Amino acid sequence: MTVKPAIGIDIGGTTFLVAAVDTDGRMVASQEHETRAADDPQIVLRRIIAAVREVLTEVGWNASDIAGIGMGIPGLHDRERGVVLTSPNLKWHNVPVAAEIGQALSTTVKMDGDVRVAAIGERYFGAAGGCDNFIFITLGTGIGSGIFIDGKLYRGPAGYAGEVGHQTIVENGPQCGCGNYGCVEALAGNGGIVRRALQALAGQSAPILLQEVAGDTAKITPAVLHQAALQGCELSRQVLEDTGRYVGTAMANLVNVLNPEKIIVGGGVARAGEMILGPLRDTVKQRAMGPGAAMVEVISAVLGPRAGVIGAAAMAMYDLD
Ligand SMILES: [Zn+2]
Repeated sequence: MTVKPAIGIDIGGTTFLVAAVDTDGRMVASQEHETRAADDPQIVLRRIIAAVREVLTEVGWNASDIAGIGMGIPGLHDRERGVVLTSPNLKWHNVPVAAEIGQALSTTVKMDGDVRVAAIGERYFGAAGGCDNFIFITLGTGIGSGIFIDGKLYRGPAGYAGEVGHQTIVENGPQCGCGNYGCVEALAGNGGIVRRALQALAGQSAPILLQEVAGDTAKITPAVLHQAALQGCELSRQVLEDTGRYVGTAMANLVNVLNPEKIIVGGGVARAGEMILGPLRDTVKQRAMGPGAAMVEVISAVLGPRAGVIGAAAMAMYDLD
């Protein structure tokens, strides 16, 4: 079967990205626009359809030239019917996305969660290098994942699989957005990282960090901590290394359960690179059991913010189910 190029669409709460993606995973044309999620979903979908038409015109592709359209949308989906059941980020409920877009553009539409399509992107055109058993995690506001087992994306019977951020790693740890205490997300998500930095600042001086935010600790973010750490701030370096250890503890649990070949780390916080990845890798190797720990590679994602749109297109190109 010859693979055809496809259109990928990655919808976030702030912006959406539409791209024409060739069969080598290259974005040959793209447009990014504000989502304006406060608008009626029909209006948002019409803006997306207009952007797809412009991208198709730019590359000179007709509906018959493409495999279809793939979409990454945060939230819970009925993939059979192509309906977004609920998306807190977009404030969408029961939106028939596939029918609306498919009819307007005369092509097939597939959809899945935003982190899962990013995992698909890394599998076909990124860090996974086609490997069949891997866990892709994103570190950011939340900690999410896409899990491939024996070449298939594992979604779970109700679509809830992959909530790796809500593994309890500290029994009486801080409360998480999910209601539980001590989830890895509560410690190593953006909010948890900043909270630990503020706690550390109460008992330790960090002149470089304070200079970085001009004395306003409300401006501390993981990116600021990374900058300060690069300039020699010990507190910032410690907070980021602890982040790697917390995530590594959660990943060691998964290595013991799933025996993945690779753990691929993406998302905004992962831009701190080896400062987080190093302790994460060491913790996995120390805590997971022998053979699984020995074989698993802990590596950076390579597609960055393009993983979602490229993965969405890959989902249209390849039959994943
Ligand atoms: Zn949680």
